[in-house]
Amino acid sequence: MATDDDLRFMQLAMDEALKGKRTSGGAEVGAVLVRDGVVMCAGFNEGDLRHDPTAHSEMVVMRRACAELQTTNLEGHTLYCTLQPCGMCTMACLWAGISRIVYGAGRGDVNAVYFESRHNDTVDFIHDAFRNDLEIEGGVLAEECSRLYAKPEEHVEKKDPAHRPTKPAW
Ligand SMILES: [Zn+2]
Repeated sequence: MATDDDLRFMQLAMDEALKGKRTSGGAEVGAVLVRDGVVMCAGFNEGDLRHDPTAHSEMVVMRRACAELQTTNLEGHTLYCTLQPCGMCTMACLWAGISRIVYGAGRGDVNAVYFESRHNDTVDFIHDAFRNDLEIEGGVLAEECSRLYAKPEEHVEKKDPAHRPTKPAW
């Protein structure tokens, strides 16, 4: 169940997404990392800004928090994100020991261009993980968050390498 705090922190993540949209080289996905009700870090997708395909908003805030705390362990932290985390970010949450993921818009709410995999989603990665203590909650302010993104039926130019056809090696 989403709490009042969840709504408040998701709102902050949406503010970050809007900052990302306004920033050259940024993109409209926002994330906030919270521990014991306190915002530890907030950020947005900086992929084009940093020429870094791994600079998704979730990775940005985890990297910053880990550097600040001089650790690779973010146990006890909740990660809020305006969009359902991709496989890479979900795995990074597992590696970092994040305790809870809360996201806004889900895969079905937005265009497929935002995701890398045809079928696997965040929940599959978590269910298949060795850890069984990572909580996940989706759909918090989903409607508001999904307004940040292209709609499922919209035609979007797929410039992202994840969507380019690949040639089989055989
Ligand atoms: Zn991601």
